[in-house]
Amino acid sequence: MVYVRVSLVLLSVLLLALLTGRWLLVLLLAALAALVWDWVNLWRLEHWLRLARKLDPPKSVGLWGEVLDGLHRMRKRSRDRDKRRRNVVRNYRDSVKAMPDATVVLTGDYEVEWCNQAARDLLGLRWPQDEGQRISNIVRHPEFVTFLAQHTREARMISLPSPVDGRLWLEVRLVPFAKKRHLLLARDTTALRRLETMRSDFVANVSHELRTPLTVIYGVSETLGQELGEDPEYARSVQLLQEQAERMKILVDDLLLLARLETGGAPRDRQWIDVPQLLTVLVEEGRLLSGYRQHQITMEAEPGLMVLGNEKELRSAFANLLANAINYTPDGGQINLNWSSEASGAHFRIRDTGIGIGAQHIDRLTERFYRVDPGRSKSRGGTGLGLAIVKHVLMRHGAQLTIESEPGKGSLFICSFPPRILRHAGANPKRASA
Ligand code: ADP
Repeated sequence: MVYVRVSLVLLSVLLLALLTGRWLLVLLLAALAALVWDWVNLWRLEHWLRLARKLDPPKSVGLWGEVLDGLHRMRKRSRDRDKRRRNVVRNYRDSVKAMPDATVVLTGDYEVEWCNQAARDLLGLRWPQDEGQRISNIVRHPEFVTFLAQHTREARMISLPSPVDGRLWLEVRLVPFAKKRHLLLARDTTALRRLETMRSDFVANVSHELRTPLTVIYGVSETLGQELGEDPEYARSVQLLQEQAERMKILVDDLLLLARLETGGAPRDRQWIDVPQLLTVLVEEGRLLSGYRQHQITMEAEPGLMVLGNEKELRSAFANLLANAINYTPDGGQINLNWSSEASGAHFRIRDTGIGIGAQHIDRLTERFYRVDPGRSKSRGGTGLGLAIVKHVLMRHGAQLTIESEPGKGSLFICSFPPRILRHAGANPKRASA
């Protein structure tokens, strides 16, 4: 259509020139008219693009009409796309705003970029006044400030009392996203925490209540053992009674210890512990425990490498690991204890050549009563609480437990202590061994 029109105009100009015989003038006038036409259309287009708010373009005909229609279609498509995008962003923001969990978008320097209503309620942020503020100036809890200072690109979590109401407990997560941005998420875990406290209080109370009757039963079983231990009719029953009373006593003691470890903060009676000395005693006890099973227990320890902590608790943790190594290693197997330091901290490693543990169990071993083989654990007098105790003791010391194991080959339990609770008593670099 456009080409027909253009051809018609050109034909008319040629005809006019032919009829009048004034070629130059006609062509000049035609060129001038075409220039004015283009200029007018360009001006209207520029005006429409720059100023006009309306979507419809100025009306025109010919090539200009096609150009303006094309631009109109493009502009409409782009407006529709923008509208859809704006709707998505608005819906997304509305849903984040309505979330009961606090959400704060932080810059790479942990400055507040945006937050929702829950962040104002739970973390005490003011919006928009706090925009651009460092989050550590608003949430000033020392643990939170240290938590932020640990620069890493992995998602992390911490539990804190709310800065708005100290009775509320929050689980705060920091999730890196995009380039140098962080998402701070906080959810109210007060109810969960209360339930958890109720659960551990219940276990602690029951264990406590069981302790007295158990002591009586245990005492009576011992007396009965002395009186009837030789009597063929009762000897077996009395022995069973004694064994079970002893088992229950150990179980109740472990439950009480675990409850105490769970509820308390960092251990109170902290002192510098000479770990090599502690391990020497444990190795002696381990050899007694192994007895006729003849395990080869060896030890290497960096002399004078001390740790700041609660001796009773750490002793109990290390003893539990050693008892496990003995229990789950066949007679005559090898068990090695190692205590050494490096720049990242000190490690207590206990390696055995025992039955090992399948990879699917490793993450669950520190759960209460989790056993790979319940029958085997019970026959060895295990309560299923040993590794839970180890984990809690280490947590209270800011230390970590790592487990490496392969079925049939043996296991390696590593307790890693941070440098801030380590010290060398002497400068003698010689290694102690037993
Ligand atoms: P238990 O009283 O049953 O030993 P623990 O909490 O100490 O309870 O250990 C949990 C489970 O982990 C054990 O039942 C056992 O299956 C496994 N386990 C622990 N230590 C070792 C080890 N050194 N070698 C193999 N398995 C182990």
